[in-house]
Amino acid sequence: MAKHYDLIVIGGGSGGLSVAERAAGYGARCALIEAGRLGGTCVNAGCVPKKVMWYAAHLAHALDDAPGYGFRLDYFGFDWQKLKTARDGYVRDINEWYLGYLADAGVELIRGFARFVDAHTLEVGGEHLSADHIVVATGGRPRIPNLPGAEFGITSDGFFELSACPPRVAIVGSGYIAVELAGMLQTLGAEVTLLVRKDQVLRPFDATIREQLMERLREDGITVLTRTQVRAVARLASGPLSLHCDGQVSVLQVDTLLWAIGRVPNTDALDLATAGVTLNPDGSIPTDPYQNTDVPGVYAIGDVTERFHLTPVAIAAGRRLADRLFGQQPERRLPYENIPSVVFSHPPIGVIGLTEEEARQRHGDAVKIYQTRFRPMYHTFTARPTHTVMKLVCVGPEEKIVGCHLIGEGVDEILQGFAVAIRMGATKRDFDDTVAIHPTSAEELVTMR
Ligand code: FAD
Ligand code: NDP
Repeated sequence: MAKHYDLIVIGGGSGGLSVAERAAGYGARCALIEAGRLGGTCVNAGCVPKKVMWYAAHLAHALDDAPGYGFRLDYFGFDWQKLKTARDGYVRDINEWYLGYLADAGVELIRGFARFVDAHTLEVGGEHLSADHIVVATGGRPRIPNLPGAEFGITSDGFFELSACPPRVAIVGSGYIAVELAGMLQTLGAEVTLLVRKDQVLRPFDATIREQLMERLREDGITVLTRTQVRAVARLASGPLSLHCDGQVSVLQVDTLLWAIGRVPNTDALDLATAGVTLNPDGSIPTDPYQNTDVPGVYAIGDVTERFHLTPVAIAAGRRLADRLFGQQPERRLPYENIPSVVFSHPPIGVIGLTEEEARQRHGDAVKIYQTRFRPMYHTFTARPTHTVMKLVCVGPEEKIVGCHLIGEGVDEILQGFAVAIRMGATKRDFDDTVAIHPTSAEELVTMR
């Protein structure tokens, strides 16, 4: 006889941990099944170790900038392995912390890989478990292309395994991971070539922001090859990799190749068809606005769905689902509008809401744009020509702010507060009526004409 629960969650990442903890808080009998390390992608191979490397790159820039402020420095290089050891220890501490988090919440942790037997039953290591509600929160994994020699490349997972900075790196892709890792690797000492298959990086972003980023990537010394695709990879007898490409180069030799071409949802080994759950063609799980799949009692949250693949989104969707199922809040759900997001490039990008292009498609001539481009005071004394760009997308006579797009030092921290205001329906007048904080970059957002 299968052991029975109110809720079983598959996956102990950002989404799964949140839904289980919140549901248990309402008194639900919960189990969480995890095949790997607690914390999932964000903690083990995503946001957390990535931000550590971003801070390191940020410090490297600060060291370059320091002479402009009068510092005389003797610089003895960067010990990648030392940082990796400290970073891995930090991540292990978070893994441990989650054990206590689940125990304190009263969630039973089951180690193993789950598969559906039917809509209410799972099999884990030969045992059957059943539940009234099953949440799929199995996340995704990096995509590797199907071409000769692709296996010689690493992915973002492999980036976190590196014990030294590779001298020459090719990064294939144009999304968040490609531009973030390109910036970190170049700043920490690698010679980076970014291979972009179309004309731009970050294509879904506002054109002004992505153009500014392209400029920055090149000014930082990254070789950006557009309209260039890798067709085959071979390892040379002397060690390096030889990439055979179509586009701006035909052959490129590097020490490390990194695929950053998107992620694949972890649904292929779940036997979801036996539960009757239909998948999208890309393997992700379609859900309605309440995270319901097409099978009653089976839900999906986070990266395994087709919506925003961000940690706070997985967490928010999970908590709201628990509120709805066990907290007597039948209408509780995550509205997927006005989700703020930051790309940890150098400098960072912060965005929320509609791009100018999207706003013009939806609202035509009712759109008004406010934009500024300036050299932040900090860079008056540095050798780096970094500019900050800020754009507000407003609509209608009341100039409601429907989009805010920022690139520049500090925007990763600036955006959060403005996201609250925009979510609350702020207008340009509200921004204008807010007293500026001087001297900052953020003040430009409330002084734009
Ligand atoms: P995951 O965190 O992937 O968790 C899924 C879990 O399910 C895993 O632990 C897996 O082992 C487990 N699992 C899978 N299948 C099974 C099974 N059948 N049985 C049992 N267990 C199973 N987001 C941000 O908001 N900010 C960032 O700065 C950021 N940086 C990122 C950097 C990188 C390099 C990457 C790859 C991602 C980054 N993300 C970032 C995205 C973020 O990590 C994800 O959106 C988030 O982790 C998704 O959470 P999840 O719970 O949906 O899935
Ligand atoms: P993304 O979806 O952001 O970008 C991948 C891009 O790679 C595609 O959009 C496509 O761009 C390009 N691409 C796809 N296939 C190929 C191919 N065969 N050859 C060359 N280029 C290709 O994926 P990522 O892997 O970068 O990141 C996954 C998700 O994780 C992100 O979307 C984001 O949600 C999340 N994440 C969030 C971060 C953050 O919050 N800071 C950081 C890292 C990840 P095009 O069509 O223009 O060629």
